[in-house]
Amino acid sequence: MIENVHVAPVTGPEIPSGYIRIEGDRIAALGAGPAPAAPGATRIDGSGCLATPGLVNTHHHLYQWASQGLAQDATLFEWLVSLYPVWAAMDAEVVKGAAAAGLGWLALSGCTTSSDHHYLFPKGRGDLFAAGIEAAREIGVRFHPARGSMDLGESKGGLPPDVVVEELDEVLAATAEAVDAHHDPSFSSMLRVAVGPCSPFSASAELMTESAALARSKGVRLHTHIAETLDEEEHCLERFGTRPVDYVEKLGWLGPDVWFAHTVHLSDADIGKLAATGTGSAHCPSSNGRLGAGIARVSEMLRRGMNVGLGVDGSASSELTPLAGEMRQALLFQRARYGPGALTARQALELATLGGARNLGRADELGSLEPGKLADVVLWPVGSFAAAVADPVCALVFGPAPPPALVLVGGRTVVAGGELKTVSQDAAGRAGAAARRRLVRLAEERGVRPARHVHEDFTA
Ligand SMILES: [Zn+2]
Repeated sequence: MIENVHVAPVTGPEIPSGYIRIEGDRIAALGAGPAPAAPGATRIDGSGCLATPGLVNTHHHLYQWASQGLAQDATLFEWLVSLYPVWAAMDAEVVKGAAAAGLGWLALSGCTTSSDHHYLFPKGRGDLFAAGIEAAREIGVRFHPARGSMDLGESKGGLPPDVVVEELDEVLAATAEAVDAHHDPSFSSMLRVAVGPCSPFSASAELMTESAALARSKGVRLHTHIAETLDEEEHCLERFGTRPVDYVEKLGWLGPDVWFAHTVHLSDADIGKLAATGTGSAHCPSSNGRLGAGIARVSEMLRRGMNVGLGVDGSASSELTPLAGEMRQALLFQRARYGPGALTARQALELATLGGARNLGRADELGSLEPGKLADVVLWPVGSFAAAVADPVCALVFGPAPPPALVLVGGRTVVAGGELKTVSQDAAGRAGAAARRRLVRLAEERGVRPARHVHEDFTA
């Protein structure tokens, strides 16, 4: 029983002082005023706290925790070309350490469910997909890994070097195997697998089409990168004669079971297609800013009925980005582009919660505080410095979000008092640093030097 707390349920009216009753892994009740009698219940005093649904991260590449701070001044394509050879050296140990640190970091910013898009599987380097899953199980957050893939190497006109891509048949077999081995469709699932060919410039049309068919035959969701940069748009126009959204539409990639990362460069017609088909977007403002990709038209997308969630994106393009901070980044980007009415604090909170749950196909289970939904709840301390802000939701979104006082996943404590409780926080941080050292060593053994800068004028 969480009592004396300001509840922002996201759906339904806010409760300035109320309670949330949790039974098992579900929310049993919430309401205004003092908590009702509940003999035997554990009581948590939420005084000075704002309760929100757990935040949902809908785009990430956890392995990138091990390659942060590189290619600091690069465009997306320069950044990828600089990093592919480094990533080619990764193994399961790198992925495990990177995922432990990355997911621990997310939990510390109020994330209770995270997706992961892993699309590089160098041969003979262990079970990379299972390594991320193991880390998620230890941290205790709900996990939605996409079995990603690339089959369009340089020799076939793609961007990645041939050494990091797979053959079409290998990908489909490994993806089917990943779904069969790990996917849990149940209501309170801690793990659901998606299918995720990487992008139009690294996955062939055949891979996109076959992936969609496979995902639909297995009843799992589809995820990829679309319309991230103008370079990608140019690439699509040159190679396919169409813009990115029109291209993937032809491949069967629009629908309520699809969510795209980025969607920065959408035309009016693109937005109309995504809205009409129920295709979702994972908005990653910090990454888009870091790579100079542009500002997505989020407030227009919302106005036209598109679903939008948030994502931190891989840490190599948004170093140490906390998920809660993406609410602020999204709000500021939209207002800088469209004016102060473009996105409210409560809309930003909805992107991070219910918008994310919709992207992952879990709006019935997650994303709002309602009786019957899963007890993924975050208490944000807004009673100290932040108490000077008139409105706790404004304090959370406009300000830098404070470390959570409590993070519950299905009623289980993952973070308390701003510290990880499921694993040693120090150990998770050290595992991430060790993963970086190991990746650098493995890359250097292959003659690859990870570069901090790709433009000489930035190196001083
Ligand atoms: Zn990405």
